[in-house]
Amino acid sequence: MKKFELPPLPYAYEALQPVISKEIMTLHHDKHHAAYVNGANAALEKLEKSRKGEMEIDMKATLRDISFNLSGHNLHSMFWPNMGSNKGGTPGGKIADQINKDFGSFASFQKEFSAAAKTTEGNGWAVLAFHPQTEQLFVIQLEKHNVAAIPGLRPLLVLDVWEHAYYLDYKNDRAKYVDSWWNVVNWDDVEKTFSKL
Ligand code: MN
Repeated sequence: MKKFELPPLPYAYEALQPVISKEIMTLHHDKHHAAYVNGANAALEKLEKSRKGEMEIDMKATLRDISFNLSGHNLHSMFWPNMGSNKGGTPGGKIADQINKDFGSFASFQKEFSAAAKTTEGNGWAVLAFHPQTEQLFVIQLEKHNVAAIPGLRPLLVLDVWEHAYYLDYKNDRAKYVDSWWNVVNWDDVEKTFSKL
C-alpha cells in the first residue's frame, strides 16, 4: 500500500510575509498538514491489517478517518503552490477567460469567492472548482475538509479558513485575512492545473 508523504513547501516559510507570517506557515505545514498525512497513513494501516485478517476494525470510523485526513492532505497540498511571494493581481490565460465567461468578470468572481470564505461555518475551505461535464466553474464551501463536497468537481484554487490558518496573525478578523490573501494568489499555478484538465 502506498503511503502518503508530506510535500515540502515550494518556498521559504517567510515567503508569504506580511500576508501570512513565518510562524503560521511553520506550524501550519510542519504540524497541521503533517498530522493529516499521519492520520491518513494510520487509517490505511488499519485497513491493511483488516484485509490481512490481523485486526477487526470499525469500518465506518476508519473510512471516515481516511476521508477527513486524506481530504485535508490533498487540500493542503494544493494550497501551498496556490500561493507565492509577490503574486496576486488578476489571472491571464485560459482561466481568466473561463472566469469571465462564468462569473461575468474577475471582480464578480472575487466577490463570490471571498463571501464563501468569510461565511464558511466553523473550520473549512473556499474552493474554486471546474465541472468538466458542463465546462463551468463553481465556488464551493467545504466545511471541515469534506462536508458539502461535490464529487466530480476538480479543485483549482483553495483557501484554508480554519482558524489555524490565520488566528496568530489576524485573531478573529477572518475577513481581513481573506482580503489580504488575494495578494499571494499564484494564478500561474491555477492556470497550470486548469490547463491539464
Ligand atoms: Mn490548514
